[in-house]
Amino acid sequence: MNILGTEYKIKIRSDKEDSLLCNCDGYCDTTVKEITIREIDKEFDSVKDLKVFQDNVIRHEMIHAFFHESGLRDYELDETLVEFLAIQLPKLAKISEQITFCNNNRPDLKGDEVNEN
Ligand SMILES: [Zn+2]
Repeated sequence: MNILGTEYKIKIRSDKEDSLLCNCDGYCDTTVKEITIREIDKEFDSVKDLKVFQDNVIRHEMIHAFFHESGLRDYELDETLVEFLAIQLPKLAKISEQITFCNNNRPDLKGDEVNEN
């Protein structure tokens, strides 16, 4: 996964393989550019949609990496801000797509800068 020009590996591991996953669902190690998420244990975990759960964890860890690669170290460690953005990111992406769609269908805006006021 490319985050602001830096490649991050995404690993899925069990908490038996990686003790850091005993107390969390995932973590981002910016020193080695890796995002590690905990493998779901179908017997013990309560989530039904495993793919959605893992995507949410990856998105959260990706935001940590995004702040790190932006040089925003205070924000990188702010779990409330990181989780807020991780939850809102899909909604922001949809809104952004709507803006692009609107502009592509407005010949009067083609080639011109959009006035945001
Ligand atoms: Zn976090």
